[in-house]
Amino acid sequence: MVSHPLVQHKLTLMRSKDTATSQFRQLLREIGLLMLYEATRDLPVEEREIETPLVRTKGLALAGKKLCFVPILRAGLGFIDAMLELVPSARVGHIGLYRDPTTFAAIEYYLKLPEDISKRLVVVVDPMLATGHSGSAAVHRLKENGAESIKFVCLVAAPEGLELMRAEHPDVTIYTAAVDERLNEHAYIVPGLGDAGDRLFGTK
Ligand code: URA
Repeated sequence: MVSHPLVQHKLTLMRSKDTATSQFRQLLREIGLLMLYEATRDLPVEEREIETPLVRTKGLALAGKKLCFVPILRAGLGFIDAMLELVPSARVGHIGLYRDPTTFAAIEYYLKLPEDISKRLVVVVDPMLATGHSGSAAVHRLKENGAESIKFVCLVAAPEGLELMRAEHPDVTIYTAAVDERLNEHAYIVPGLGDAGDRLFGTK
């Protein structure tokens, strides 16, 4: 869990129903940066020789795997611009999943991934890990398409979603800013922050 005070403060603002769409979007973007900072903490680095204006020296630079961000449409998009600012060379795959309103099963309607996904660290992003159906289905599809190294970044998780992800994908590290109490009868996270997609794009 990412318990950094800045993340927690921004999340509290996002939870408030009085937070306007524009501010919600900005906060999601800012938290996206901070969450990616945590999720990339263990990236391998290597020494590199460089010349400063004064002397020859060595510095550390990223080594090994390149990154691929995969937002789950549509709320996951809210993280992407900020994450690309932090890692501009990353590729972006997209997966579109909607929830069947009665069974809450994840139904795929779009998939576009970079060809070299197996060589990249894949960071799947979706602000809300509720039942875990979408998150788990997305990770299954990424694995089918060759992804071998996957992390999952969300903002708020429900215990049910975490349990499903841990059962189906024990190899995937999950980064979340909060683990909330429960899901309600519509599979919304309580206390949560409502529908992240609607709040992000102002569709309700
Ligand atoms: N998706 C959301 O946007 N919010 C929830 O609470 C659950 C799923």
